[in-house]
Amino acid sequence: MATIVQKFGGTSVGDTDKIKRVAKRIKQGMDEGHSVVTVVSAMGKSTDKLVELADEITDNPDPREMDMLLTTGEQVTISLVVMALKELGVDAVSLTGWQAGIVTEEVHQDARITDINTSTLEGHLNDGKAVLVAGFQGVSEDGNITTLGRGGSDTTAVALAAALEAESCSIFTDVTGVYTSDPRYVKKARQLGSISYDEMLELAHLGAGVLHPRAVEFAKNYNVKLVVRSSMENVEGTIVEEEATMEQNLTVRGLAFDKNITKVTVERLPNHYDTMSNLFKLLAEEGINVDIIIQQMTADHGVNVSFSIDSGNLGKTLDLIHGAKETLCYSEVRHESSQSKVSIVGSGMISNPGVAADMFKVLAEEEVAIKMVSTSEIAVSAVVPEKDMIRASEALHTYFGLDEKEQEKIELAKQA
Ligand code: ADP
Ligand code: ASP
Ligand code: MG
Repeated sequence: MATIVQKFGGTSVGDTDKIKRVAKRIKQGMDEGHSVVTVVSAMGKSTDKLVELADEITDNPDPREMDMLLTTGEQVTISLVVMALKELGVDAVSLTGWQAGIVTEEVHQDARITDINTSTLEGHLNDGKAVLVAGFQGVSEDGNITTLGRGGSDTTAVALAAALEAESCSIFTDVTGVYTSDPRYVKKARQLGSISYDEMLELAHLGAGVLHPRAVEFAKNYNVKLVVRSSMENVEGTIVEEEATMEQNLTVRGLAFDKNITKVTVERLPNHYDTMSNLFKLLAEEGINVDIIIQQMTADHGVNVSFSIDSGNLGKTLDLIHGAKETLCYSEVRHESSQSKVSIVGSGMISNPGVAADMFKVLAEEEVAIKMVSTSEIAVSAVVPEKDMIRASEALHTYFGLDEKEQEKIELAKQA
């Protein structure tokens, strides 16, 4: 019997009616002759509510205790879905991450899965049961409960699909698939029929919240057939696969954005071999993630170094740099908050020079200030003021031919 893995996100299990609907879908999969493993998230916004509870107690919660707290959300959902299945006469069992054999590194709040022991899970499948697994959680070798980072239930599902050599892994969510950009903000965004692992990975890293980046990484490494689809409507989703067909020969496949970025500039550092290493070691040792880095010579032979960070890390970053003023030997440190990053992604860029130039032209026409730029083989990103993020995204979306055409809208309406 072929095994299928499916995952339902927070909105898709937001209340008990939706949970009953998920149970019906699981039953349907079993009636079609599949062994069904289902991963679920915490109900609705309940993970955010747990974070708020911790915030009411402390500004600096212990990461181990945060994991202990947040993993309770998913446990509520697995038990309720099993109850709903039993009401439908389906034999089912719920498993926490550790009961499902998901082993992670000894890291809290952003752990990577290192191993999966599927024997318990397979035992239940062999007994003909539907298996419900709590998403986003695992256990370290030392027996501590860990979580995989916000949005990590996608990764639980894809990792289980890889370990079980499942036929497919479906990610059921509140949109009908992967779009050219976040349809909640870019009104003319269009659903893609398929997208390659590499493009999806880049989009996910650059802020497209529809899939957790590590889920895409697992899917690519283990060649998992991954489909993103709606939990509400029975319409075709988006397939994430090795080679996606390029619609209309477009260079750019999608666009992502990310806010809460701050640009920090450290001025007139000494022009020494170890300047960059001293500055960034200081930040790395405190776990501060730095994204784009720019180094510039000054007229008097010093160097200015600018870098972008998540705005949440600004206080810590400034404290560290101020505290090391004597050893770093700089003149001043400045920062610009309320920035964002807008990125265009597409494997067609490899063979198409001038995409970055076109992007800058569009931003110039929109009078959007470009603060920093970074490129990879298949992406170009620009840091721009947060107030301009959506306007810039919409202009780029139109320029690169991604807008939904009126005709397609009519077709989609007919299908619905
Ligand atoms: P879930 O709770 O099911 O995991 P998420 O909120 O994590 O759902 O992901 C779905 C959301 O991702 C959508 O509601 C949409 O706003 C957002 N999103 C961002 N980028 C994209 C994109 N390129 N395509 C589709 N959805 C996107
Ligand atoms: N419940 C977790 C979160 O809200 C994990 C997930 O939904 O994927 O981030
Ligand atoms: Mg998600």
